[in-house]
Amino acid sequence: MPTLTCPICRKLVRFTSRDEVPWRPFCSRQCKLVDLGRWLNEEYRISEDREDFEDGPDPDGNGPAENA
Ligand SMILES: [Zn+2]
Repeated sequence: MPTLTCPICRKLVRFTSRDEVPWRPFCSRQCKLVDLGRWLNEEYRISEDREDFEDGPDPDGNGPAENA
């Protein structure tokens, strides 16, 4: 039986089919939301930091494709 360990609460979850755990790799919707919240917080922090790096070209610029 496949198992997964929730990265948020470290709970071990057993499941028989993937449909049983729609919020994989999390054990529950609650943990998925917790992870989402962390991501959003991280995003906000990063975009705030980025304002210090406005000068200088983007070395790895994957901008929108302009050669259509
Ligand atoms: Zn969990």
